[in-house]
Amino acid sequence: MSEYRFPRQDAQFVLDQIVNFSALCAEIGQDDLATGLSDAILDEAARLGEQVLAPLNKIGDQQGAVLGERGVEEAIGFAGAFKQFAESGWPSLVAPEAVGGQALPKVISTAVNEVWQSSNMAFALCPLLTQGAIEALLTHASDALKATYVTPLVSGEWTATMNLTEPDAGSDLAAIKSRAVPDGDHYRVTGQKIFITWGDHQMTDNIIHLVLARLPDAPAGVKGISLFVVPKFLVNADGSLGERNDVKAVSLEHKLGIHASPTCVMSFGDNGGALGYLVGEPHTGLACMFTMMNDARQGVGLQGLAIAERAYQHARTYAHERIQGTLRDGSRVNLMKHPDVRRMLMLMKSGTEAMRALMYLASATGDQLHHAQDAGASILQSRVDLYTPIVKGWMTELAQEITSLGVQVHGGMGFIEETGAAQFFRDARILPIYEGTTGIQALDLVGRKTLSNGGEDLTLLLGEIELELANIALPDTLASVLSQCQSALNDGKEALSWLLDNPKQASAVGVSLMMLLGYLLGGWLMLRAANKAAELSERPDADTAFMMTKQHTAKFYCEHYLPRVAMHLAIIKAGGDSLMAIDETQF
Ligand SMILES: Cc1cc2nc3c(=O)[nH]c(=O)nc-3n(C[C@H](O)[C@H](O)[C@H](O)COP(=O)(O)OP(=O)(O)OC[C@H]3O[C@@H](n4cnc5c(N)ncnc54)[C@H](O)[C@@H]3O)c2cc1C
Repeated sequence: MSEYRFPRQDAQFVLDQIVNFSALCAEIGQDDLATGLSDAILDEAARLGEQVLAPLNKIGDQQGAVLGERGVEEAIGFAGAFKQFAESGWPSLVAPEAVGGQALPKVISTAVNEVWQSSNMAFALCPLLTQGAIEALLTHASDALKATYVTPLVSGEWTATMNLTEPDAGSDLAAIKSRAVPDGDHYRVTGQKIFITWGDHQMTDNIIHLVLARLPDAPAGVKGISLFVVPKFLVNADGSLGERNDVKAVSLEHKLGIHASPTCVMSFGDNGGALGYLVGEPHTGLACMFTMMNDARQGVGLQGLAIAERAYQHARTYAHERIQGTLRDGSRVNLMKHPDVRRMLMLMKSGTEAMRALMYLASATGDQLHHAQDAGASILQSRVDLYTPIVKGWMTELAQEITSLGVQVHGGMGFIEETGAAQFFRDARILPIYEGTTGIQALDLVGRKTLSNGGEDLTLLLGEIELELANIALPDTLASVLSQCQSALNDGKEALSWLLDNPKQASAVGVSLMMLLGYLLGGWLMLRAANKAAELSERPDADTAFMMTKQHTAKFYCEHYLPRVAMHLAIIKAGGDSLMAIDETQF
């Protein structure tokens, strides 16, 4: 399997030129980061990812996690890697200093998380969920709960899980049946949760489950769900660990991919009820859980970028090495010489770079929001809200295409597990499913994020893009890129106005609108990247090859991906009549 290398130069370019990292640092009062500290952080993360986590990726795939006498046993090497990960302080990156965190901007942790997710996605799911749980507890839990549970999660002594799904409650969480009955200062939680990622393992002494359940007086539906902290081991008043709680993993799922990430069926309360502690107010659990889910949705979008990058690097290495085909002069050539292989590699490269630009921008917007005052905060909140389903939906769907192309570049060898390309393809397949499927992201985008505000938030974003396109001074070589972006922007505006005129069609056209916006935002940011690269290439110290490559990559993106915006507009305008036309019995 080819080695993984964090694409440091592109990440740095996105931070500097797309996100304007130094201005962000000044805005949030962390100038020291822009002057060297972030370099050291990214270098260290790359070292751990490349040297420790990436070599475990294939072992984890082959070995998987197993359920033994002690509970779930993770794949060989994972416990040691997690120890190193925790001891180096990585779980504490964004948490506030008051709970032992480093209070770094989210955009830096996004770049760092890209390293973990590319190196070993199955491993990185564990800290991804823990990070979301920390945020949910900090936002909604009582001081007493925070004091007990947050610091050990931030230090990496413990990890956390998200327990939503039940056999009858997947996309529709209103159907949750798990119960929590008051019992003194705590609750007794009973029920079964399925598909719980890293629901059990031996890497840390304790695991903190965030569980959705219903109180006895709960109203029906999503308004009757509450959130509870249920630790694997109870925690004594002095912070030491007490008895084993009444919760355990009763089986593990056999899956298509991410074999090293244990996906557990969790049983709560087989012996009288697991002790749980209410987070937030009764019946507000789903809203509290949304803090964790929004964090995780962006995190899963990032997984799409990261696995696409890994698949691209793998395919690129193979295309350089594999000799196939003969020129007229009789010389044999590698795959790189074939235009169609170039097409596939360029789709992989340009799609991944567009995703990186959108992902880092969305995270930086989150940082601005975190430090914003009054009026500015509500606009930034709407922007983050708008980005989230696009990041999760579009990026995880695009990752399917890119990891599939990774297999295709390998030809027959791509289908053979030994080569490693198949693992990325299999691992990527979960991404549009968990944390809300693509269909659910699209509903969120068209409903809560668009129609509920009369399209105002999206209009504002499209208006900002329009302004940037109108004022951009591009070299002639990039003129076609600009006109392609303008045309895609007009299509985006037309799609929005069609949706506003046809709100009843929202659920039928939602995925198309989400994909349209993903490709459009990707084009906008690739144009910005190309323009910055053109400017920078004039400097005497410029890495001209990188700057030229960026411009060509943006051009390719606009020629090969942006036409999909018009295609999605056409699908949207066709409406949903034909897809609902035939009788259910005819399927
Ligand atoms: C490997 C793995 C790890 C997971 N980790 C966790 C975890 O840690 N914690 C946790 O709580 N859950 C976890 N899940 C569960 C995951 O979030 C759910 O599988 C997912 O939300 C979909 O629910 P479902 O499987 O019940 O599918 P369903 O809800 O039955 O959906 C089936 C299909 O119908 C579509 N659909 C359903 N309802 C609608 C609708 N209203 N509108 C449009 N389309 C709709 C869906 O998009 C999908 O295509 C995990 C799942 C897997 C496979």
